[in-house]
Order: sequence, then structure tokens, then C-alpha cells
Amino acid sequence: MSNPVENIRVAIRCRGFNEKERKAGDKCIFSVENEGVCLVNPENPTDVHRFGFDHVFGPEAQQHELWDQVGKPALDKAFAGFNTTIFAYGQTGSGKTFSMQGVQGGADGELAGIIPRMNEALFARVGAETAANPDIHFLVTCSYFEIYNEVVYDLLDPDNRKNKGAGLEIREHTVLGIYVKGLQEMVVDTPKKLQALIDQGMASRTVGSTAMNDTSSRSHSVLSVKLHQRDASDAARSTFAKLNLVDLAGSERQKSTGAAGARLREGANINKSLSALGNVINALVEVAKGRKVFVPYRNSKLTRVLQESLGGNSLTAMLAAVSPAACNFAETLSTLQYASRAK
Ligand code: ADP
Ligand code: MG
Repeated sequence: MSNPVENIRVAIRCRGFNEKERKAGDKCIFSVENEGVCLVNPENPTDVHRFGFDHVFGPEAQQHELWDQVGKPALDKAFAGFNTTIFAYGQTGSGKTFSMQGVQGGADGELAGIIPRMNEALFARVGAETAANPDIHFLVTCSYFEIYNEVVYDLLDPDNRKNKGAGLEIREHTVLGIYVKGLQEMVVDTPKKLQALIDQGMASRTVGSTAMNDTSSRSHSVLSVKLHQRDASDAARSTFAKLNLVDLAGSERQKSTGAAGARLREGANINKSLSALGNVINALVEVAKGRKVFVPYRNSKLTRVLQESLGGNSLTAMLAAVSPAACNFAETLSTLQYASRAK
């Protein structure tokens, strides 16, 4: 079953069992069927849930397959001048960061995720296109920020790290459109430079966290790469596109028992922003089907800041990551339901 809405693509990725699930002797309740997935309630084998998606990646799927099906089409779209956004959604530990960033290692760097592959492919293509046509000029810039508790923090500005900086405001300008005031925008001309900024930003993310409170699973991180293309012989052929790579906060239901004050507010903000994103994508699907509906971009910082990259001719890819284990049934079902709403 493929998505009738071309510009909104939904992929599911199920990882293999982790150490904890294997040791517990947990059952596998997830299977891939044709182009869909099947999830069985471990408490009740007759309670079977089936969903169809644009792409399904099972536990044996390799990182390069994810790149081919999800990453590369987004990059192609950006070179064609359209904004694109890839969201990684799922409970903590399901494989969001593994899919987006990956880890170092594997034969030929096979374990690298979408972001480092995007980075290499982007500059390879810039080099090839510039060599083929000296009139084409590219400018690549990037910003990297985090939204934590509905506050935007610049991951590339050491002074704006959470707990130190006050957070940045989202503004709207008649010409510039929607932007984050004061956000660092770095010019990058090699994959090495871009990767160094990404590494710096990721390090900033973890600075504020402790074992008790891993903020990286409670915040959304947005890497935004801008591609300016200018044709010196034909101004009309100049384009600008944003490529947003978003590692969302863990979607697990935040336990309110024992949580108080800041922790409770954190949970409420995560639920609110993930449902606001779901509602925006849902509305965009309706719009793409020709229905007149209101798109509620203003209900969260995340949808507000990405407003211009969602909808219209933009490409939106939702990558939902799940665990195959019985102990995660409720969260996996909720992730599959969330993802299937985007169709
Ligand atoms: P999340 O970002 O959703 O919290 P991670 O991406 O950090 O989860 O994944 C949790 C752990 O599982 C990490 O150690 C990661 O390397 C591993 N992992 C996740 N998905 C896969 C996969 N498809 N193949 C191999 N290891 C994976
Ligand atoms: Mg993560």
C-alpha cells in the first residue's frame, strides 16, 4: 500500500532485539508482510494490528538501504529546489539516532546513518555539478538547534546551551519568512567542516544531561542544511532549499507518577509537540488530497519553526522506529498508529 500523497512518505524501521530484551527471553511480536507490518498483542494473540507504509525496514535492513529509500530522495529534492524534512519518531531506544546519525564502524562505514551519508553525497554532488557547469555556484550553510521544553537552543553556540542561555525566539519577517532570531548560520564548504559542526552540536546536547535525566531523549534536535544554487548565466534558474534532519524526543508516554515540577512539564511539552506535529502532518495529507483544512502550525515551536518546510511542494519523510519485543507492545502500537495517521 503506497501513500496517495507523494510528498509525504512514511517509513517504518524495526531494529533487532537488544541485549535486555534477549536476556529477558522476550517474544517477537513484529513481522513484515508484503509492504506492510503486523503487530500481535502478546496478551491476546487474536488482537492483531496490520498497517501499510511506503517503506518497511526489518531488523536485517542495512543503513545504506535506508539511505537509498529515504535519504537520497530527500537530497535529490533539495537539489531540485524544494525544502525537505526527515523526522525520526519513536520511543527512546528504538533506533532514531542510529538511523539518523548511526555509529562509527562496520565494513566501509556501513553503520553510518542518514546524516553523514547526506553530508558526503551533498558535497560530492556540488563538486560534480560545479565541474560540469562552471556557471553554477553553490553556497551551503547550516544551523543546528534543539527544542527542549518548548524553548529553542542553539547547539552551535556554546553560550546558548541549555541551562546557560535564555533560549531563542522564533520571528517572522515579511521577506525572510520564519526564522530563529540570533541562531548561528555557518557556511560550510567541505563534508569535514559540516561533520565537525554536527559533532560539536551533538556534544552540546549531552552536556546538560545526567544519567537520571537524559535530555537528548527529551528534546527535538534539528539539523538544517541550506542549499543555495545560483546560475550565473540564468538568474531564473537559481534555487534555495532547506534540508531538515530532525531527531525527535522519545515518544514514550511520560510517566507522571513520581514526576513533579520541571519533569512533569517536560513530559507535557513532549506529548504536546509530538501531537502538534502529528496534527500538522495529518492536515497536510488532507490538503494534498484537495480538502480545505486549516494547518495548525502555531501549536508548537517545532511545527512553527519548520512551517515553511512542511506542505506545498516540500517533501516530508517520517521514519518511525520500533522495537520488535513483546515488552514494548503498547509503545510500538502507538508509534505505528501515529505513523499511519500520516497517510
Ligand atoms: P533512540 O535514538 O531512538 O533513543 P538509538 O538510536 O540510540 O535509539 O538506539 C538504541 C541502541 O540500539 C543504540 O545502541 C543503537 O546503536 C542500537 N540500534 C538501534 N537500531 C539499530 C539497528 N537497526 N541495528 C543495530 N543497532 C541498532
Ligand atoms: Mg536518540
